[in-house]
Amino acid sequence: MFAELSPHARDLRDRLTAFMAEHIYPNERALLEPPPEAERWAPRPLAMALMAEARAAGLWNLFYNHGPEGQGLSNFEYSQLCEILGRSLAAPEIFNCNAPDVGNMEILAAYGTPDQKARWLAPLLSGEIRSCFAMTEPAVASSDATNIETAITRDGDDYIVEGRKWWVTGAPSARCKVAVVMGKSDPAAEKHKQQSMILVPIDAPGVRVVRPLRVYGFEHAPLGHAEVVFDRVRVPAANMLLGEGRGFEIAQGRLGPGRIHHCMRFIGLAERALESMCQRAKSRVAFGSALADMGAVRQAIGQSRCDIEQARLVTLKAAWAMDRHGNKAARNDIAIAKIVVPTITGAVIDRAIQIHGGAGVSQDFFLAEAFAETRFLRIGDGPDEVHREALARVELARWA
Ligand SMILES: Cc1cc2nc3c(=O)[nH]c(=O)nc-3n(C[C@H](O)[C@H](O)[C@H](O)COP(=O)(O)OP(=O)(O)OC[C@H]3O[C@@H](n4cnc5c(N)ncnc54)[C@H](O)[C@@H]3O)c2cc1C
Repeated sequence: MFAELSPHARDLRDRLTAFMAEHIYPNERALLEPPPEAERWAPRPLAMALMAEARAAGLWNLFYNHGPEGQGLSNFEYSQLCEILGRSLAAPEIFNCNAPDVGNMEILAAYGTPDQKARWLAPLLSGEIRSCFAMTEPAVASSDATNIETAITRDGDDYIVEGRKWWVTGAPSARCKVAVVMGKSDPAAEKHKQQSMILVPIDAPGVRVVRPLRVYGFEHAPLGHAEVVFDRVRVPAANMLLGEGRGFEIAQGRLGPGRIHHCMRFIGLAERALESMCQRAKSRVAFGSALADMGAVRQAIGQSRCDIEQARLVTLKAAWAMDRHGNKAARNDIAIAKIVVPTITGAVIDRAIQIHGGAGVSQDFFLAEAFAETRFLRIGDGPDEVHREALARVELARWA
């Protein structure tokens, strides 16, 4: 089923691997360490310098296949590069391949008007600005997006946006200039036609970043996550994406590739956790023997290899299905990967933490933050239960 990588993708893979070794791992701690309070959300010179370097090296917009700004890779090819850059939580932004900007760039490329593309897509592709995606609301169960209450109301040549969102990744960053906001434009319409998505400049009067949110204590500065209030924010009607009532359609289009990218990155994290597990086990002695000679440790290592291979296969299959049959037809494969990979990656990282002892939960290793990342992704982009429910529906339909 799986084809060889093209020579172009192989070349990118080799150069990406070398860039990670030369620039990312040595700088990882500095990139992930929380900045001083006053500079929390400011652009970080080291990250900006590395972004410029990655761009100059042509290791930029690897996910993007809508035009010359990207590399024209298939999902299957990108999976294998994404695994490499996923090995470090610091890396995706350096290559302009981070969430939620990737999803927003996909939206703008697929559904944006020429003006929307010129104003927002071009500076996102060049890395000049960042963006955020505001769908989830504290007041309602947002895994069911039909619950969203934020109002997008037409007023002459404008729309008024009013609502409260949270978990808006990227919103606290000083580089974040635009939000893709999902809200209801017609509460009386058919259930999945009530919602719209609209572009809201972050500096528009009435937009307030109320507070940053932490994930298990990790702030993820300088992009971060925030609660954001839209207090009667007025934006031109031309900021509407695709058209009133098309929000669900856009959300579905956005989340498919977004979900699979998370899975691809996680396989890289899991591989690195296994490497770290083995290195640690070989270098530590307890009760007279190397950890690597202990049965329980060896079981953990063997099981982790089995787990990672399964995770990689379901992810590559989903990427292959997206290339071959389109995102919509591949939705079950995407759902399977989205359920399987964060759980498996979390289990592998958990074993690695155990084998590292106290070091594993400290800031000296990447493991604690990586574990938090895998845990949140069993909720973000649709909780596991919602994806299992969708799969169950398909399975049961066979027996109607
Ligand atoms: C770090 C992080 C970053 C995020 N980034 C963004 C972002 O950039 N933009 C954005 O809009 N959102 C973002 N989110 C929000 C995320 O997508 C939501 O938290 C998620 O969709 C779940 O919505 P909810 O929190 O309202 O949970 P709820 O909808 O209240 O669901 C709670 C729980 O109910 C259970 N449940 C729900 N449905 C079912 C079902 N059908 N069957 C069985 N059980 C069910 C599940 O266990 C679920 O976890 C982020 C979240 C986190 C933690």
